[in-house]
Amino acid sequence: MKVCIVGAGPAGSMAGLEFAKRGATVSIFDPSHPREKPCGGGLTGKSLALLPEGAGHDPLPARRVQSCRFDTARGLMIELDLGEPVGIVARSEFDAWLLRRAVEAGARHLNDRITRVDATGRVRTLAGLEETFDLIVGADGANSLVRRTFLTATPKERRWMACGWYARGDSEMVVRFLKDVEGYLWLFPRAGHVGVGIGAPLGNPPTRDLLALLEREVARAFPAMARDEDTPYYAHTIPSPGEDGATLREMAGLKWALVGDAAALADPITGEGIFYALRSGQLLAETMMTGASAQAYAERAMEELGHDLMRAARLYKKFFAPGFTDRMLDYADRSPALSRVMVDLVLGKQDYVSLKRRLVMTLPRFGWDLATAPVRRAWRRQAARSVV
Ligand SMILES: Cc1cc2nc3c(=O)[nH]c(=O)nc-3n(C[C@H](O)[C@H](O)[C@H](O)COP(=O)(O)OP(=O)(O)OC[C@H]3O[C@@H](n4cnc5c(N)ncnc54)[C@H](O)[C@@H]3O)c2cc1C
Repeated sequence: MKVCIVGAGPAGSMAGLEFAKRGATVSIFDPSHPREKPCGGGLTGKSLALLPEGAGHDPLPARRVQSCRFDTARGLMIELDLGEPVGIVARSEFDAWLLRRAVEAGARHLNDRITRVDATGRVRTLAGLEETFDLIVGADGANSLVRRTFLTATPKERRWMACGWYARGDSEMVVRFLKDVEGYLWLFPRAGHVGVGIGAPLGNPPTRDLLALLEREVARAFPAMARDEDTPYYAHTIPSPGEDGATLREMAGLKWALVGDAAALADPITGEGIFYALRSGQLLAETMMTGASAQAYAERAMEELGHDLMRAARLYKKFFAPGFTDRMLDYADRSPALSRVMVDLVLGKQDYVSLKRRLVMTLPRFGWDLATAPVRRAWRRQAARSVV
């Protein structure tokens, strides 16, 4: 099978690696490397688990972080021990690392931009190349040309705007929920610098106001991370599926398929997209290299990823309703059982489909935790005094 992959982000490189491993002839087109993709670069455990082994001399360029501080504008704060690390990467390094794995597996990387694709499998590039493929894979991100050619762009209502800057220095990992914003602010420490950012529904508030809010909040609460005049902003959208999943059912045709952001596969609550990019790239190759159709890939993606993302889309409004995140942090602070659920959500071990069931099963333990919380607090204070 002759496969054209448009884009060498995580979705494209993973698809390229998996197709090449299975014997396909793979061409990955992307003129942007080396480049930094605007991103927090957070890799949950489920993303880390999908990654190929790096060669001994070329280990995964990730910083491992073991705890995360969650807080709210009202002053609630908890420090969660994640038990197992999450990775944080600079996308310039991570994407190049994954592309090297695809090339090692036999894929060809062409430093060229695709300017046209059609339903017969024919592509044209900026450098003037014209070639026909058995399959065109749209791994070309949030503003995908492949998506716009065969479907329509992901609408504004299903996109987040995520923006910020990279600050010099170091910080703990922080997620902060802000009043009146259906999203959150983050500080993600990487090797040598910190990703500072904020995400919220596109246009609500307008990007200019979102950045101004981020500047104010960081200057007030984390002055060492404040942006200096020479530091540029970054901004990019994150597309995600709606509640009905119609777009998920139509993400492949006879000779084309979409993966990652091009397929709008990202978590509408957290903005996590790297896992979905990696897994959809893998799923596509696994499915098509057994002789199944691109449509069979869309069905598998719906089954494995789609239902959970649709559930997340339904939970979105409740999650960011006034007071919810305050209550969540307050309860997690008083209940080890609930904070375990939160940790599993952060690590990607707890899906949305079974979340309600797990919360119901946690209720008796939660009640006990709340009743005994004052005793645990007294122990903690006592232990802190004896250390001093
Ligand atoms: C600010 C921000 C923070 C985020 N933080 C996180 C996070 O911490 N964790 C997480 O999991 N997700 C995060 N995400 C989401 C994550 O960045 C995306 O979901 C992920 O990058 C999607 O990967 P992809 O391969 O589908 O697309 P991309 O990473 O966007 O890659 C697409 C590639 O296609 C190339 N391309 C585009 N058009 C063409 C063309 N015509 N021809 C050839 N090449 C082309 C581009 O140059 C690019 O290299 C964040 C997103 C944003 C915006």
